Amino acid sequence: DTFEELDLGEGLMANIRRCKYTKPTPVQKYAIPIGLGGRDMMACAQTGSGKTAAFCFPIIAGLLKSGYQPTGRQRKAFPAALVLAPTRELTSQIFDEARKFSYQSGIRPVVIYGGAPVVNQLREIERGCDILVATPGRLSDLIERARVSLSAIRYLALDEADRMLDMGFEPQIRRIVEGEDMPPAGHRQTMLFSATFPKEIQRLAADFLHDYIFLTV
Ligand code: AMP
Repeated sequence: DTFEELDLGEGLMANIRRCKYTKPTPVQKYAIPIGLGGRDMMACAQTGSGKTAAFCFPIIAGLLKSGYQPTGRQRKAFPAALVLAPTRELTSQIFDEARKFSYQSGIRPVVIYGGAPVVNQLREIERGCDILVATPGRLSDLIERARVSLSAIRYLALDEADRMLDMGFEPQIRRIVEGEDMPPAGHRQTMLFSATFPKEIQRLAADFLHDYIFLTV
């Protein structure tokens, strides 16, 4: 079990080595090949299982392999990837990892969350936004203000989906994912991560995923 076997591309591999990741965790071992294969997935995985890399590696490797051109400076952002997560802490952690994994690739991650001034976040978005890591409320706000468009989304990841529903984010999540701006299921790659798999999450999976693989670790 090594990352070398996973065909992640030289740039990303160098960054993985820099992060001192030597061996894939179980969720990484199974989720990364599925993600690299372009398939939608529903993965049941706990906090601390290494799920951030499990969805970040397929996004970054996929963008680089496709010859993706970073957007550069733009008043309105058209990110190629969106990661939704429930809290400021979690979005910040995902952003920190995404930044390490995309080091020197030209791909620029940005994080936005509620409860903090929007001006600084807007400034970061304007500097270029290829991977947007967001809490649902703040993202809805910036979509309404026409500062973010989801029309270019190729990758959508939802992290700790059960916690997002517990926190009452389902209406915002549905407006975001089922909004007319977002490419529909099957025209984007969607990765849904949740620690538990109750009825509400099964419904989200049925509505958001296309021909998906179910993974429990
Ligand atoms: P996560 O579940 O994504 O929040 O990851 C939990 C912690 O494990 C984070 O601090 C990661 O940087 C670290 N981590 C994830 N995958 C690996 C790996 N394959 N090798 C070493 N550390 C890892």
